[in-house]
Amino acid sequence: MPEIDERGSSDRGSRDHDAVRHIVCPADGSAVGTVPEGDADDATRAVASARRAFDDGPWPSTPSPERAALLHRLADLLEEEKETVATLEAKDTGKRLVECRIDVDDIVSVFRHFASLAQADAGRVIDTGMPDVSSRVVHEPVGVCVLITPWNYPLLQTAWKVAPALAAGNTFVLKPSEWTPHTALWLVDALARVGLPEGVANLVLGAGAAVGPPLTTSEDVDLVSFTGGLVTGTAIAEAAAKTVKRVALELGGKNPNVVFADADLPAAIDNAVTAIFLDSGQVCSAGARLVVEESVHDEVVDEIVRRAGLIRLGGPFDDDAESGPLIHEAHRDKVHDYVRQAVAEGATLRCGGEIPTEGPLAAGSYYPPTVLDGCTRDMACVHDESFGPVLTVETFSGATREEAEDAAVAIANDTHYGLAGAVWTENAGRAERVARRLRHGTIWINDYHPYVPQAEWGGMKRSGIGRELGLAGLEEYRETKHIWHNTRPAPAGWFAHGPADAGV
Ligand code: NDP
Repeated sequence: MPEIDERGSSDRGSRDHDAVRHIVCPADGSAVGTVPEGDADDATRAVASARRAFDDGPWPSTPSPERAALLHRLADLLEEEKETVATLEAKDTGKRLVECRIDVDDIVSVFRHFASLAQADAGRVIDTGMPDVSSRVVHEPVGVCVLITPWNYPLLQTAWKVAPALAAGNTFVLKPSEWTPHTALWLVDALARVGLPEGVANLVLGAGAAVGPPLTTSEDVDLVSFTGGLVTGTAIAEAAAKTVKRVALELGGKNPNVVFADADLPAAIDNAVTAIFLDSGQVCSAGARLVVEESVHDEVVDEIVRRAGLIRLGGPFDDDAESGPLIHEAHRDKVHDYVRQAVAEGATLRCGGEIPTEGPLAAGSYYPPTVLDGCTRDMACVHDESFGPVLTVETFSGATREEAEDAAVAIANDTHYGLAGAVWTENAGRAERVARRLRHGTIWINDYHPYVPQAEWGGMKRSGIGRELGLAGLEEYRETKHIWHNTRPAPAGWFAHGPADAGV
């Protein structure tokens, strides 16, 4: 497999000397707001606040039904203020308002899911076979959690961390992406309004490079949960290792969407378009690698290309738009570089691949839906996460059913990542066989993208460590303790010469 060559973004946004940051909408560069810009001292103070609230405050020992009730109150508030929250998210990200409304619905479900789990598990009683011993396993909060979140689904990714952290009784420091801070501000204010004790929720705004190190290296932090790029995630794991913190990483993927010739092709084609072009490809589980059986390649790819060319781009409040801009120009330029390099490496550009320079789209960081055909696994665009609206196409074939499956699985697994993937076939046996062989944390069969908070989410290989959502998503935020209680204490009698009075 080729070595990873992930590229970080270079332009880190507009910062001035009054320690504020001006947030602009990537759809047209319009001003969204001005937020305080934190520094390393702010990060250190936030950790101290979370530490005090954990060590001396009421939250870790608040009964779980009360913690659950608070999470439900927050979900209620989200429902009441849905339009406000969705609008904040739409302006920061440039994403369509209609999608941001769906995100808020998902966030409500996430808080309610962890509210229900908060009181569901009181630990386990162990049968030791000894009548005078009570042995039980209990769960406790981990402590102070640092939660670092990305810009693509700012409040949703935050909810995946904040909801279980609170359900388990932790305190936290939240560090949202510098590009999309407004819904994090809303959340911390909302948590105070629904009655979360002071110091439990702490927010640090600012550039990751500045505020990250004090958060990830502090002795006072017990867990770091990060969602973002592989390069940053690796650095965070190294920084946290020195104090042996718990680390949870969600690092994205390079996700194969495998289409066999015996699939329901209209459904497969329609979902392949959504798999990659939803939110302009800025989705960690985006179906960025189409792996299609050679015999249906032309039928499938020609139709995807036709439909990609019809996707209407536009800003968050444009009712005709079907997809929005990329998060900022530097990211858009990075995506474009991947496309240019792929063409230089021999890929065929079937559509897209040009930065808009005229009309309303020129004012934002838009990139057109792009399809690269004839791709091979050694191309950077195939093995790196470009995180844009770029579909690469690889083909497979086999003389027998087994050979075709082997060929498809070999291509789909030949990636450092292992987050998600899909298989399309009308053959149920093949669907199950291939799904089990794919080394990715989520596999869709004859579908793409749906998720529910009740099921775990996370990656194998370099897509991360740990799981969010489901039951495991709560376990990340809980310590497990075994308590052994001998109700009839007696000398151990192991050594011959015990205390002077031990023999009486
Ligand atoms: P990053 O990984 O750089 O950023 C994610 C979060 O980490 C942000 O809050 C960022 O803050 C923070 N951060 C950055 N450096 C540090 C540090 N040294 N210590 C602690 N926190 C830090 O993602 P980018 O925004 O730069 O995007 C780069 C690539 O990451 C994308 O092109 C894409 O491939 C991938 N990505 C994956 C996502 C996913 O869902 N898996 C989501 C977003 C990006 P700040 O914003 O202030 O730099």
